[in-house]
Amino acid sequence: MLVLSAQQMADIAAAAESAWPAEGCGLLIGKGRRVITVTRVMNADNLLKSQGNDRFELDPKIRFEAERLVRGTRERVLGHWHSHPDGSAQPSATDLAQAWEPDLIWLIVGTAADSEGRPQAVQMLAHRLDRDSGRVFPVRMETAEKRACQAARFPT
Ligand SMILES: [Zn+2]
Repeated sequence: MLVLSAQQMADIAAAAESAWPAEGCGLLIGKGRRVITVTRVMNADNLLKSQGNDRFELDPKIRFEAERLVRGTRERVLGHWHSHPDGSAQPSATDLAQAWEPDLIWLIVGTAADSEGRPQAVQMLAHRLDRDSGRVFPVRMETAEKRACQAARFPT
């Protein structure tokens, strides 16, 4: 399970919308194994934004910066996010053709224009590649706020 705060989701959605009609992208830093909690979102420049709206490549400077930030901490670079300007939050053929880093989580934001032509984030899904089968599996997502509600004990 991937846990993000409502604010982190809003920040990713805003970055995805501002990148539209190109793909936006960024890195997810966090900790945990079974329950993976995002502690930091680093938005990045999409180096391929001028080469079409179906691809992205993170600026490697952000990756280096992220690796430097987590060095010696319990945090790690756990995945990345990118957006699809066609509204889909499923991995595209382009995504699958790329060399995946199997340990990373792929968070995909579907963006689409509303009736007034303004970009909106319409869907957000997380995925992981199974190294052995080469298939993509969904990763359940939850907000940190919702988890806090569930953990609270209510008087009976
Ligand atoms: Zn994609």
